[in-house]
Amino acid sequence: MTKRKQTKPTLDEPTHSTTRWPPRPLFFRWWKKHRSRFLIDLHWDSQDQESMEFSFEGIRPALHGFLSDCRISVAIDHAEVSWDTVFDVDVKAKRVRGGYICEWCEEAVTGPPRVFANRSALLSNHLFEPFLEWVNEKLAKAHWLVLSAIPERITMAEITIEPPAAKHDPSYEWVTHVLPLRIPFNGNIVT
Ligand SMILES: [Zn+2]
Repeated sequence: MTKRKQTKPTLDEPTHSTTRWPPRPLFFRWWKKHRSRFLIDLHWDSQDQESMEFSFEGIRPALHGFLSDCRISVAIDHAEVSWDTVFDVDVKAKRVRGGYICEWCEEAVTGPPRVFANRSALLSNHLFEPFLEWVNEKLAKAHWLVLSAIPERITMAEITIEPPAAKHDPSYEWVTHVLPLRIPFNGNIVT
């Protein structure tokens, strides 16, 4: 995918300032360094005390992401309905002798927990790299957003490479909407 310059104002740091309040999640600094590894660019939409929200360049804004120093998730909102979460990873950093561990892993895994040299290394292992892999391996390869519901009861969303096959069973309760994942190129060329 060709990267275009952002057309909307970005949250880029002013060059004259070295401090910022609220502080950015650690992901932001990591992303600036690793941005070229992403097949789809991120667009920063907003920030509050602990988190930032983002969307994906060229992808339908129904997909929107949320990140903080303990979670990265991507959810689908469409027609005023929260359909589903399509990506979600979390971490609970704890300082120990020699570095940081994840408390969730400590509870789940038997044996000594893996100790990371610093918090950034733990977050990159648990949040940043899995997110990058999801963007490049799943999102960048997908073409369709499939929204399925049993009205008034369940909603579900997935991103897929092929559109789902139509079901002809009259007892099948699910209602499915299939939407193109990508926004058509709008003709604006930003140089
Ligand atoms: Zn963990």
